[in-house]
Amino acid sequence: MTGAVAPPQAADRAPALRISHLRKSYLTAGGSTVRAIADLSLTMADGERVAILGPSGCGKSSCLRILAGLDTQFAGTIEWGNERAADASRLRSATVFQGDSTLPWMNVDRNIAIGMSGLRLSTTDVRRRVDRYRDLVGLRDFAKAYPHELSGGMRQRAAIARALATEPLLLLMDEPLAALDAQTRLVMQKELHRIWTQTDSTVVYVTHDIEEAISLCDRLLVMSSRPGRVKAMIESPFSRAIEPLERRRMPAFAEMQAHVWDLVAEEVGQTLVGEATR
Ligand code: ADP
Ligand code: MG
Repeated sequence: MTGAVAPPQAADRAPALRISHLRKSYLTAGGSTVRAIADLSLTMADGERVAILGPSGCGKSSCLRILAGLDTQFAGTIEWGNERAADASRLRSATVFQGDSTLPWMNVDRNIAIGMSGLRLSTTDVRRRVDRYRDLVGLRDFAKAYPHELSGGMRQRAAIARALATEPLLLLMDEPLAALDAQTRLVMQKELHRIWTQTDSTVVYVTHDIEEAISLCDRLLVMSSRPGRVKAMIESPFSRAIEPLERRRMPAFAEMQAHVWDLVAEEVGQTLVGEATR
């Protein structure tokens, strides 16, 4: 690819996570089995940002739920790196979901603090983290505001701060910007890039949006249609120093977008054909 700097950064760092041959099936209420994930392997370096792309129903959210520890019924193995081992002061993983997950009866600071309730932290440490992560996501002037007083983008900033405040080994994001309007999405992409750089987060980022994945991540994992397997793993040609909006103006961006779209389109086509003939 042209017009770009060699990719990162994290390759020589210790593995944060190794997923080997992950498989997942669901038993439906009717008694039949739905194979959601057929085979997914992924090794992530500490501090790396990996996007997962793929058609609806290919098992992206299932994969995140397993990584979040919310679903333990799966086959395959998940090994966590021990370099930055989890202790009582941080979570192994924290998730930011697509929809609004702020609690309407709590102000911003309490919404952020609630995420730390399972951790062993002193009141002073909780206070310190609330201040740090609220300011980091740009909500300094809204500490006491309630969700109904905030825009959608601001509520999502609060949800991001709540996840970051747990200082997770792995930050999981499931289409976190999908519910926002187009302009707010662009602003938030720039913000996520800035925030991850400051927190040095290891991130699994699920999105439908190819441009968003290229704007934000070091590698893109493209999944096949259901049952999901790894169809391709693509390295970003962009250096971390290049901001999302700047990336969009570079020739390598359009090249990568076309390449990834070809891969995804084949799978979306498969899904549509499957639905039409069901
Ligand atoms: P994605 O996030 O990629 O759209 P999901 O992981 O949500 O996909 O779902 C993958 C497949 O598993 C879909 O076909 C979905 O219908 C099925 N599925 C997800 N959750 C359940 C469940 N709790 N019970 C039965 N089937 C499920
Ligand atoms: Mg999903």
